[in-house]
Amino acid sequence: MVEKNDYLGGATASRELHKNWIYSNASYVCSLLRPEIYRDMNLAKYGLQVVPYGGSVTMAQNGDYIGNYVDPDLARREVARHSPRDADATVRYDRDIMRQCRFIRQFLLRTPPDPTSFKPRDLMELLYMGRQAMKVDEDVLYDMVKFYTMSISDFLDEYFENPLVKASHSGSGIIGSALGVMSPGTAYVLLHHRMGDVDGSMGAWGFARGGMGAIAQAMADCFTDHGGEIIRGSGVEQIMVRNGKTTGVALENGNEYYADVVVSNMTFPRTFLECMDEKDLDPGFLKKVRNFKIRGSSGKLNIALDGLPKFTALPEGSELAWGDMHLIDSTERLERAYDDWKNGTWSKDPYIDMLIPSMTDPTMTPPGKHFMSVFVQYVPPKINGKEWTDAQVAEFGQTVINQIEEYAPGFKDLILHMEVRTPRELENEVGLTEGNIFQGELTMDQLLFNRPIPGFAQYRGPTKGLYMCGSSNPPGGGVMAAPGANAAREILRDLRKPNTVPEGWIDD
Ligand SMILES: Cc1cc2nc3c(=O)[nH]c(=O)nc-3n(C[C@H](O)[C@H](O)[C@H](O)COP(=O)(O)OP(=O)(O)OC[C@H]3O[C@@H](n4cnc5c(N)ncnc54)[C@H](O)[C@@H]3O)c2cc1C
Repeated sequence: MVEKNDYLGGATASRELHKNWIYSNASYVCSLLRPEIYRDMNLAKYGLQVVPYGGSVTMAQNGDYIGNYVDPDLARREVARHSPRDADATVRYDRDIMRQCRFIRQFLLRTPPDPTSFKPRDLMELLYMGRQAMKVDEDVLYDMVKFYTMSISDFLDEYFENPLVKASHSGSGIIGSALGVMSPGTAYVLLHHRMGDVDGSMGAWGFARGGMGAIAQAMADCFTDHGGEIIRGSGVEQIMVRNGKTTGVALENGNEYYADVVVSNMTFPRTFLECMDEKDLDPGFLKKVRNFKIRGSSGKLNIALDGLPKFTALPEGSELAWGDMHLIDSTERLERAYDDWKNGTWSKDPYIDMLIPSMTDPTMTPPGKHFMSVFVQYVPPKINGKEWTDAQVAEFGQTVINQIEEYAPGFKDLILHMEVRTPRELENEVGLTEGNIFQGELTMDQLLFNRPIPGFAQYRGPTKGLYMCGSSNPPGGGVMAAPGANAAREILRDLRKPNTVPEGWIDD
């Protein structure tokens, strides 16, 4: 394996960016990682522990808040405090989401069939999908179309009346997406964030002890334990091809490695537009790569804190501060944050999803100190079509800090160190094209057999021996490991090697 950075993990990394503070550099919470892979790679043996965290809270500008407690009675009473009708609707809402998630989960570790193909395998897979669809209630099928086509805002309107209740559910529909809450298709993005689990508890999220890099490190240790070698610190400059056959990779440092099989984990555009010679690729294919939607929309602040911030809305010591904290009070306000992105600049009133992982995992910071992860929507890849300047990056960071200060007076004084990441940093450091956190938009036109593009959803590249295993491929982004496992299965199939990655491979 060759990795351009001198650290492992890409967007799933822990780094000591400030002395004695471990930051989850990009991704910060775990749920999507497939349990089958966790078990098959024996990641527990390699030190990976995922600790679920409780609840979440959404805070409004007027000092009100809505908590999502782990205790179901408390959770219900909390929604009823805002609207008794919405407390009832929450039961239906959760049930409908979970039914969809359960349906989708069985396809995550399967290769999408090509609906235009008459190959027995594709036909069998289509048949399998049809059979699974016939097993679910009619309502689930009708709802499925809604999820893939509706905006999260319209979808929430079908269940809830209270603006804060709606706001508390809306963020998951737009995180990582260059779409607004009112854009069609965002209801699916919400599902994507709910279909994981921690220890079998569907929809739950957790912290990897030691930060997200613990996941990459455990996988790397498993890999090297089984004879793999990892070469770091120099990126692939070129994927080499001769007579339509992939022959290996040439690194930036001049080293060349030859192989019959090359597997790219880079984004779809980076693989083909930056690391391959145009003459080795069909112009029609290249045009489709260029049209792949991969617009960045997110930023991140990693902050070392001298102590715990006090949020005006929350009672001292509230358990709600242990989970996700969102600063938003209506879907309309969230849509306005998106307007700034469309206008070519970062949101001046951004949507913030923040956590203090060191409350659950004190090993990340010195005693009594804390690490805060602040994920921000919306942040464009360029400012009014021009590259970000350092001054603009700093200004964006200040926008976010000012926002948090409004809800937690004195917050600024606690900051010991802070790093600000815009799509520019995400692209430069991790190689995420335009800083898109999911290696490509998660809209219906780019999902299932259309991801990354029609005809290439089965992990095989356009030249012989080239495969693709990053999140640009089905089933898409997040720390899931599913595209990698699916690609591995297809490679073993082509090599006619015994396959330990069975199709489906589902455990629930
Ligand atoms: C800010 C942010 C927050 C996120 N939060 C979450 C979260 O909380 N939970 C979650 O589940 N998901 C989250 N995600 C998404 C998740 O991190 C990604 O979907 C996931 O890491 C993608 O993994 P990947 O292996 O497909 O690709 P990547 O993580 O993009 O890895 C690609 C790898 O290729 C390397 N590389 C790139 N170019 C070259 C080259 N030329 N030569 C050699 N190596 C190269 C990179 O350095 C990197 O290691 C977040 C992402 C970001 C950016």
